[in-house]
Amino acid sequence: MSESELPPNPTPSTSQRAQLPESGLDRREVIRQMIERREKDASWHSGRTFSLVYHASDEHTQFLKEAFCLFFSENALNPSAFASLKQFENEVVSIAAGLLGGDAETTGTMTSGGTESIFLCVKTYRDRARSMAGGARTAPAAEPEIILPVTAHPAFDKAAHSLGVKLVHVPVDANFRADLEAVRAAINPRTILIVGSAPAYPQGVIDPIAELAAIAAEKGLGMHVDACLGGFLLPFLRELGQPIPPFDFKVPGVTSMSADLHKYGFAAKGASTVLYRSAELRKHQFYARSTWPGGLWGSTTLAGTRPGGPIAAAWAALMALGRDGYLRLARTILATTQAFQSGIQAIPGLRLLGQPDMSVFAFTSDGPDIFAIADAMEGRGWHVDRQHLPHSIHLMITPAHATIVEPYLNDLRECVAHVSAHPELAAEGNAAAYGMLTRLPPGEATEEFVDGFILQHMDQLYR
Ligand SMILES: *Cc1c(COP(=O)(O)O)cnc(C)c1O
Repeated sequence: MSESELPPNPTPSTSQRAQLPESGLDRREVIRQMIERREKDASWHSGRTFSLVYHASDEHTQFLKEAFCLFFSENALNPSAFASLKQFENEVVSIAAGLLGGDAETTGTMTSGGTESIFLCVKTYRDRARSMAGGARTAPAAEPEIILPVTAHPAFDKAAHSLGVKLVHVPVDANFRADLEAVRAAINPRTILIVGSAPAYPQGVIDPIAELAAIAAEKGLGMHVDACLGGFLLPFLRELGQPIPPFDFKVPGVTSMSADLHKYGFAAKGASTVLYRSAELRKHQFYARSTWPGGLWGSTTLAGTRPGGPIAAAWAALMALGRDGYLRLARTILATTQAFQSGIQAIPGLRLLGQPDMSVFAFTSDGPDIFAIADAMEGRGWHVDRQHLPHSIHLMITPAHATIVEPYLNDLRECVAHVSAHPELAAEGNAAAYGMLTRLPPGEATEEFVDGFILQHMDQLYR
């Protein structure tokens, strides 16, 4: 849970229930109000946030808006109405497949984001299991199970919860990579899929994809690589000579992947891809209903209406950046990441978690309370993402951070010194709340309590 969702007891809104204006406001006035409301938002443009926004440059963003607006009204639900969108989508999927080691058989669809890509992945393997069982409600079709490391994105949990699939979480090793023995031990006749991440969000570490895929192939299981974060960055880091382990369709046994365009693809929000080794697998993603009075109906993804803007802007991003553009961005990201990491490690007491494979990583403190350090950084206007298991601060580096390395490190150094001098800060503010919730003894009761707390918190926020 990102820090933005704390503090635990938001003050109930005192404002009245919003009303539809009796008569429409002047459009300029509406825009003025919107700009005013934005003032209190996280300051992503100056590099003060470390997630949520991926910014290549003002020029690129302006261009994305133009491309997006060209297809502002178009709808990709019916591919025959807007041939242009179908063409954009097919080309985006084809380019993604090419970057990720696919061949002529590799196929997929665009989606609204990583969560939808993952949702569809879970549905695809569930329905494939059902189809292989030929309607027989026996294992694995009746009670399908997916094995995934605890570090895999919660989108899998959300999808499995909704789709009636059981997830079997396995631990990670000391380097935060999926524990292969635990994966082997978790396989049973109900297993349909193994999942690995490239990289996983919490520590930015790539799971042992080749080994996981070998296990999957040996047992006749599907193997999905969640490259939502890394899909459009790792290929370019590798080209720059970074030691990126095999993680894509080049690995025998990998049967599907997810890769987000709206992260390191530097596309507009609402764009991801889900890719399959063959159309034979993808067909289980599609849905048809021929007896609807509204006509013969078919849908490739989860959404009905599919906005044209994100599809068009994603294609535009790929075209305008090109290989050299992505390499240039990757070079900046790499240098900035290295500057952050060495600066953080030079601060006594701070330590990186594991050996991060790209530009996403977390650090913790062996000295002063890490959440109190997070509070102090927030006091200086940084938007901090906190994590637990273990307690840490999470960073996701984009080109927007290239100019704020020194200010960040200076503030961090001073905040660490300040919290060292004032250990009582660990018992105050967000540090206390987050610390309390994440230090409860593990167990089902704790999980239920904290889940309940999060649900109640969201209910309060959206009153
Ligand atoms: C962001 C992310 C997702 C989910 O993607 P959304 O676009 O936020 O829905 C899935 N997996 C990983 C590893 C991610 O970082």
